[in-house]
Amino acid sequence: MNRVPECIFCRIVAKEQPARLLYEDDECVVLEDIAPKAPVHVLVVPRKHIATLKDSAQEDEALLGHLLLIAARAAGGKGLSGFRTVINTNAEAGQTIFHLHVHVMGGRNMRWPPG
Ligand code: 5GP
Ligand code: ZN
Repeated sequence: MNRVPECIFCRIVAKEQPARLLYEDDECVVLEDIAPKAPVHVLVVPRKHIATLKDSAQEDEALLGHLLLIAARAAGGKGLSGFRTVINTNAEAGQTIFHLHVHVMGGRNMRWPPG
């Protein structure tokens, strides 16, 4: 699996940096966000380093679908019936960690449109 040594999510996936892991499989891990923006805020992180959604390729099609399936399962595991899934792409959209991840947030009313 390609990895970027200085990438914090690559380090978490490799268990070189601690995180509160809720789930893991061959393709991804689910972890608690370190600075939750909602009562439930978890991240679905592929093991493969893809910097942004824009950098995903045709070969990532199944992986991207898997991340959404696991996001829904993680929300269910947290007891959420409604939840927000977010992928921020690039700094102007709020991306701060340049390793693709899906936010799953819930446990409060989520406003629309987001800021
Ligand atoms: P982004 O802003 O890139 O869409 O989301 C990055 C998320 O990762 C943020 O919600 C931030 O709180 C979270 N985060 C940043 N560093 C760490 C870390 O070291 N561990 C965990 N678990 N979450 C992190
Ligand atoms: Zn990475």
